Amino acid sequence: MPANLKLRPRMRRLLSPAVTQAELIGIIAWLGVLLIHPAMQLDIYLVAITLGLSGVCCLHRMTANFFLWRVLGGIYGVLLSVGFAYVISTHGELRIFALPLAVTLVISSAILFISAQDYLICVTLVWLILWPCMQVDIYAGAQVYLYIFCAASISVGFILNFSYLKNLRSVLLVESEFREMAETDYLTSILNRRAFMQSFDALIASGQRGYFMMLDIDSFKQKNDLYGHDVGDRILCSMATCLKTTQGSHSFGRIGGEEFGVLLLGDDPAVACDFARDLLQAIRGSVAAPHNYTCSAGMARFSAGDEMSAVLKNADRNLYGAKHNGKDRAYLEGKPIELQERAAVQ
Ligand code: GH3
Ligand code: MG
Ligand code: MG
Repeated sequence: MPANLKLRPRMRRLLSPAVTQAELIGIIAWLGVLLIHPAMQLDIYLVAITLGLSGVCCLHRMTANFFLWRVLGGIYGVLLSVGFAYVISTHGELRIFALPLAVTLVISSAILFISAQDYLICVTLVWLILWPCMQVDIYAGAQVYLYIFCAASISVGFILNFSYLKNLRSVLLVESEFREMAETDYLTSILNRRAFMQSFDALIASGQRGYFMMLDIDSFKQKNDLYGHDVGDRILCSMATCLKTTQGSHSFGRIGGEEFGVLLLGDDPAVACDFARDLLQAIRGSVAAPHNYTCSAGMARFSAGDEMSAVLKNADRNLYGAKHNGKDRAYLEGKPIELQERAAVQ
């Protein structure tokens, strides 16, 4: 998906409060006109437009559908213009306000649209709706100035809308690049320790149950010493590839030099053990000899309310067990996973 489109939901979230406030100001102005004018008679049209404006404003605030959100902005602008055009056409003395009203609506809605195209469609409709209200004697012989006001207001509004959106987009783009950099491990391009731990914390806080798996590459220092750091780096990248391709994990990340973490969802220890076995098998065959390597894993169960540090300590204890009982194996609850599986069968 192009970066611009990816940013749209965020832009919408940022613009939404301003849109609601601007729409409320429009509704207040509308009600003000209805209440202040001494000869204003409430009829079915005025009631319908008032209800329509309130309904569109509420729906605009609440809708989760992006396309509907865009359309509602245009509907609001058109409805407000129709309302004012109706009031002006039924109260001739208000015609003098049609021109400043059109210019105000066109320029003030410049920061409310998420696309310049939506803005242009809406303001063209605003001018078309209010234009007939301006066909009065006071402008006789001076119609050309109306065209100038129309063109100037749309141009100024367009430039405001366009440059505002462009600046907002570039700020958000830089922000999302920094966010990605802050969450990604530079070498392996998977989550770094901070991002992984945050996702772990969020998982526990949301009440999920599952297994945390701590992986440590076996005798990695020796690989570095024998074949060089660049080979060591390639081994780390291949480890990340194994984590990406082994199905069944919720998330994973590099939590230290040659240490990785995996989160698995679900209560079933057999599923967690199967995953561990598949992953260690994939790791064994991921790099050709003599650079081939193995990994040890310590697993720990977690559920809602657990302290993350206690889960990490438990996984670390199991990793220690795996390391001190021959490496290239996974431990859960102080036992190798093969024993766990056997115990489950019996
Ligand atoms: P064990 O089987 O007990 O885990 O032994 P080990 O050699 O894997 O563990 P040790 O902690 O002794 O060594 C880890 C090594 O990982 C030391 C360090 O130079 C290396 N290392 C850490 N980060 C990187 C990295 O980004 N690239 C490379 N190439 N090596 C790294
Ligand atoms: Mg280590
Ligand atoms: Mg190691």
